[in-house]
Amino acid sequence: MPTIRQLSASVVNKIAAGEVIERPASVVKELLENSMDAGATRVDVRLEQGGRELIRVTDNGCGIDEEQLTLAVLNHATSKITTADDLFEVGTMGFRGEALASISEVSRTLLRSRTPEAASGAELRVNGGVAEPIVPAGCPVGTTIEVRDLFFNTPVRQRFLRTPQTEIGHATEAFVRIALANPQVHFRLEHGNREVHDLPPTDDWRVRIAGLFGDELANALIDVESIDPPITLRGYVANPQYSRANNRLQYLFLNGRNIRDRALQHALGEAYRGLLLTGRFPICFLRFDMPANLADVNVHPTKLEVRFQDGGRLYSQLLSTLRSKFLSTDLRAGPAGQG
Ligand code: ADP
Ligand code: MG
Repeated sequence: MPTIRQLSASVVNKIAAGEVIERPASVVKELLENSMDAGATRVDVRLEQGGRELIRVTDNGCGIDEEQLTLAVLNHATSKITTADDLFEVGTMGFRGEALASISEVSRTLLRSRTPEAASGAELRVNGGVAEPIVPAGCPVGTTIEVRDLFFNTPVRQRFLRTPQTEIGHATEAFVRIALANPQVHFRLEHGNREVHDLPPTDDWRVRIAGLFGDELANALIDVESIDPPITLRGYVANPQYSRANNRLQYLFLNGRNIRDRALQHALGEAYRGLLLTGRFPICFLRFDMPANLADVNVHPTKLEVRFQDGGRLYSQLLSTLRSKFLSTDLRAGPAGQG
């Protein structure tokens, strides 16, 4: 008869890591979300070999207290929620307390951090889930997390990694989504010796979009705003003269979190029906803001999908807002120089 055993923490973390950490881009996403939750106003990201060799994120956020460093890398350890009820009011990017546990289980991770109250910082290294003793470290207020040799101890996963070029593409995309959601934060991204992005803080979303995608696209954007309490929809859609062969330039945000939502993408397509050739996709940067309890973000570990309490209402709001916008806009009057 087979014997039933409870799995060790290390095996549990490796299983969880498989869900949350798929490739360097997932690490970039998780670390940047933590920096946003820490209230950082400046974040530097450095990658080597598409992130396969090194992913380093440095922020000037609230830092982690020395006594809490060990907790930060434990599974289901979080400072962001305490009760199950909190799950219905999540106001932070993280809440599951599994990212750092997962990452440090499948890489050589270094956490270096200092809180504003502390006279100096502290450093914790975790190699494949095995923590070394905490040592003092000189560092400014904030947190640096270094992730080296991702998947070194899970060879099967490692074999699934693609070339550095492919991985840097995915990692850059993860960076772009967070940078778009947080225009008031200064972000930098370096890959090897190359600076990929340097995005100064701004209050103007269009400036952040221009910084990421260029002035030409930013100038072809049409303002969208619709306030239907308690839901607001704000952002930009591109003049139909600008479109894509895929839907990758459709950025949707819910309360500052980048989401994927087929229904909303469908509404977008409907709004542009007749305005685009077949096979072309609209471009949008749209953010919905609503009370946290009207959406459930705890659907999947990566939190890219959400469940809305009233998805139909969002669908109609998006569709009708865009339709009336297009009716009142001269769409032939393209951006300057387009004629
Ligand atoms: P979660 O974000 O779901 O809480 P994580 O594993 O991502 O779980 O992080 C665990 C905890 O470590 C967080 O709750 C937070 O308290 C702390 N932490 C992680 N990254 C940072 C950071 N950059 N700055 C300050 N605290 C951090
Ligand atoms: Mg987190």
